[in-house]
Amino acid sequence: MARGIAILGSTGSIGTQTLDVARRHPDKVKVVALAAGRRASEALAQAQEFGVRYIAFGQEPSNVEVPAGVEVAVGAQAVADLVKLPEVDVVVNALVGAAGLRASYETLRAGKVLALANKESLVVGGDLIMPLAAQVDEQRRAAGLAPAHGPAGALMPIDSEHGAIYQCLIGESAREVARLWVTASGGPFRGRSRAELSDITAAQALAHPTWNMGPKITIDSSTLMNKGLEVIEAHHLFSMPYDRISVVVQPQSAIHSMVEFSDGSVKAHLGTTDMRIPIQYALSYPERWDAPVQPLDFTALGSLEFAAPDTDTFRCLALARAAGERGGTLPCAMNAANEVAVAAFLAGEGSYLGIAECVEAVMEAHGVQAVESIDQLLEVDAWARAEARENIR
Ligand code: MG
Repeated sequence: MARGIAILGSTGSIGTQTLDVARRHPDKVKVVALAAGRRASEALAQAQEFGVRYIAFGQEPSNVEVPAGVEVAVGAQAVADLVKLPEVDVVVNALVGAAGLRASYETLRAGKVLALANKESLVVGGDLIMPLAAQVDEQRRAAGLAPAHGPAGALMPIDSEHGAIYQCLIGESAREVARLWVTASGGPFRGRSRAELSDITAAQALAHPTWNMGPKITIDSSTLMNKGLEVIEAHHLFSMPYDRISVVVQPQSAIHSMVEFSDGSVKAHLGTTDMRIPIQYALSYPERWDAPVQPLDFTALGSLEFAAPDTDTFRCLALARAAGERGGTLPCAMNAANEVAVAAFLAGEGSYLGIAECVEAVMEAHGVQAVESIDQLLEVDAWARAEARENIR
């Protein structure tokens, strides 16, 4: 029977690629609900193509005609309502920013599978989300929905790095895992000095060499903040202490991440750099389906290079790791500051190196608390955004 999926952020990069997967596997995936921020007419076209009945918009759409048979709702509550629909088995959360946290929370509270592309859900709310995921895993085991071996699958990472680690860990014992190696492309400015980065423009930073992504994550990739957020996510997803999570630059992006075991063996996950592969795996687990991508041609790949990341130049990686190690509400404050600083940079109001300076200033000013609730995190988020706006430079 086809899995019913809701796609939150359906008009973005992950959303449209999820629809590509659904288009190829109509017998396995049935798109039943969509949520989109702006681009309302695009979302309505998607709904028509896939016969989707429910759409939630972040804001009231203007100049659109809603086709017969499509139900439209508006606002954050509308998104929360979508994930609880009985037809929905899996929620693909590809919302951008902290808004995705509540959607992840509601998805797991409703006992649904969360296919997670929204980084903030774990970076900001990992302390709230992971216990809920463990509960849903238990429910899935009790209901006979979990595979006989391996994780029960309540929380499926869509990010290529975490999808890679997830697959490398299947069949392994947690006790025997020595280290997670999260790979990084190094971004478009790999090898440059701080002085060479001082006058970088948004257009230069948006020219990412490998993966096809939205503007915010593309800037985060260039500053290595994206990798810092991924380290925090890996800590939560795989219950791994920070001193056993390493980042290695792998410029070809052929290795999507690796796991090192207690006997010195290393398992690596390789493949074409196409996000539809990790998206599809999050939907197909524990199965594998055919994918509409060119397989990796090792004879044409040539060499694989590795290098340590330059955290003196790309300070966001070190800042994010420090926030994760301190824990509590500090990753929330750090993440909000980064969102504001990146938006300012994209708008031409802040400098490239100013992103790390802003993040560091907000982290220093934050009084860290233990994570207790979403409302508390939203308050910290709002405080950090205001503080960040004072520190754009
Ligand atoms: Mg990634």
